[in-house]
Amino acid sequence: MASLSEYKKKRKFDKTPEPGPQKKRTKSGHLFVVQKHRATQLHYDFRLEADGVLKSWAVPKGPSLDPKVKRLAMQVEDHPVDYAKFEGVIPEGEYGGGTVMVWDYGTYEPEGTDDVSEALREGELKFKLNGEKLKGSWVLVRTRGRQWLLMKHRDYYTTEEDVTELAPVSIFTRRTLAEIAEDEGGNPKKASTGDPKTIPRRTGVKRRKKGQRAKVWHSS
Ligand code: MN
Repeated sequence: MASLSEYKKKRKFDKTPEPGPQKKRTKSGHLFVVQKHRATQLHYDFRLEADGVLKSWAVPKGPSLDPKVKRLAMQVEDHPVDYAKFEGVIPEGEYGGGTVMVWDYGTYEPEGTDDVSEALREGELKFKLNGEKLKGSWVLVRTRGRQWLLMKHRDYYTTEEDVTELAPVSIFTRRTLAEIAEDEGGNPKKASTGDPKTIPRRTGVKRRKKGQRAKVWHSS
């Protein structure tokens, strides 16, 4: 059974703005989210809803749309479904301290199974992503213990270009990590080390003008 006890044990909810350990189900039951997280190391948290929680993997290099690339994905504790909308700052010294961005968000369709939890227990899940940045067919395969590989299947959405470089900002607020840190009382200098030096024009993403109020995404 999916459980949030590990999630709960790791956090002090009077210190962190992260959502509490409540299980719930979205309408589709198949939410997916990728959160860019500048903690001790920059990584991308890849999460799929199953049985009232978000099954979660930390992907150090982030997802790749190139089917020749295998990305290491370390399974971490299940997260609450409400976590998918969390964008903000976890205080320094707390578990996962640093800046969190909602990098992509959408739904997924499991392929060849109706029982996602069972497929994950067996160590292989194929799925289609309907995100803004990530689309098409993917697979997660367990290699050993908590270690998995995240791979793109060859399809219409395949590309050798690096989606983490081309589309670096929040899917909800269009903010960079540095801007999120600045708005939410974090450390913009540290957070900015997870941002590309320039935001590519081709993404159509605009930086907030100086002095303009940020549109802040509230997680609750
Ligand atoms: Mn993380």
